[in-house]
Amino acid sequence: MTAMTQTLYTMDTQTGRIAPVVDAAEVKSWDDDFVMGTYVRQPGVFVRGEGARIWDDSGKEYLDFLGGIAVNGVGHCHPRVVKALQDQAATLMHMSNLFLTAPQAALAKKLIEISDMERVFFCNSGAEANEAAIKIARKNGKVGGSETKFQIVTAHRSFHGRTMATVTATAQPKYQAPFAPMVPGFNYVPLNDIDALTAAVSDDTCAVLLEPIQGEGGVYAADQAYLEKARELCDKHGALLIFDEVQTGMGRTGKWWAYENYGVVPDIMTLAKSLGGGVPIGACLARGAAATTLVPGDHGSTFAGGPLMTAAALATIEAIEEEHLMANAHAMGAYIKHRLEEPRFAGKIEEIRGMGLILGVELAEPNARKVLTAAFDRGLIVNAVGDRTIRLLPPLIITREDVDKAVDILAEVI
Ligand code: PLP
Repeated sequence: MTAMTQTLYTMDTQTGRIAPVVDAAEVKSWDDDFVMGTYVRQPGVFVRGEGARIWDDSGKEYLDFLGGIAVNGVGHCHPRVVKALQDQAATLMHMSNLFLTAPQAALAKKLIEISDMERVFFCNSGAEANEAAIKIARKNGKVGGSETKFQIVTAHRSFHGRTMATVTATAQPKYQAPFAPMVPGFNYVPLNDIDALTAAVSDDTCAVLLEPIQGEGGVYAADQAYLEKARELCDKHGALLIFDEVQTGMGRTGKWWAYENYGVVPDIMTLAKSLGGGVPIGACLARGAAATTLVPGDHGSTFAGGPLMTAAALATIEAIEEEHLMANAHAMGAYIKHRLEEPRFAGKIEEIRGMGLILGVELAEPNARKVLTAAFDRGLIVNAVGDRTIRLLPPLIITREDVDKAVDILAEVI
């Protein structure tokens, strides 16, 4: 074994196997003792990723159909992203937003070229992208001199982040209760209930914030008529339509943005997750008045849009384009659905929801967590949202062979 530059790992030069210097039990005890207990962890210590596969410290291989909860859109350690990071890290790692850098400007230009938006605000996460959107909506609501146009309508079961404003936007009591009182001015409606939405949106509404496909809430897509109505109501009442594409964006549904599947263009779109190909970056994109609402001093973030993350995001976009990953997401999504409709799943799977590679597999029995654990033991990583729903968010690079393997494991464990 020779020591690698990371002092926490060693690599066997013969086999290429990487292992932590400390054993897994010790890593677990450090985590137990020193990290705040905000996560329920799966067993094992993960040391390496490549494409759709990851390996733990014992050398066990896993097929990753969760992809960092939609972060690893181009797979783990995509060579193009790794190269961009290595080159950029050796050249210029960080610059304050008080100065210009080429990667940030180039990424902004590229995002505008591939979307219907006009300007970008960069940040570091999905929650921050939604915070920026909320701040734009609130400020925009004051433009006509109104002091009451600050209401924001969001959907039950939504997920928009964990900061105080975004957890308030997240209409799920379990995330809100410990931190009450919430930020004032949010109203919640059931997704796809047009009457409820019509009743909730008024001249005091500054924004309607929706995920085109709810991810964390169980993979529920908005109806075509519902999003069209949201657009119409926002136009009628001078409110901004905000789509949270943090999970659905970057080609996951088979198009760059989920909204393209509906032909309903928002005023603001928020991104994070897959945008950086594995590194933290978020973005709030806007068009029309919303694109110029923020002025110097209104908003900012120290690390946001730094050269390292923006270089990685540019490489990620290039990889998606050059490797035709949106077409692959569409084809593989259809193939997964087709395979999960085989007779061997009859009576065990009730419904498969979603588009492209954001899929929710609704089980007949409320044992999603047991299925997740059994799949993990067999080397397949999936996620449970609720008692009955298995969520699949694999990288866009997956192949038919990967799907065949995942489906066979699911057949064993469901
Ligand atoms: N919006 C959506 C739709 C999400 O799925 C998530 C995270 O799961 C967020 C926002 C929050 O993103 P982050 O965890 O990067 O703050």
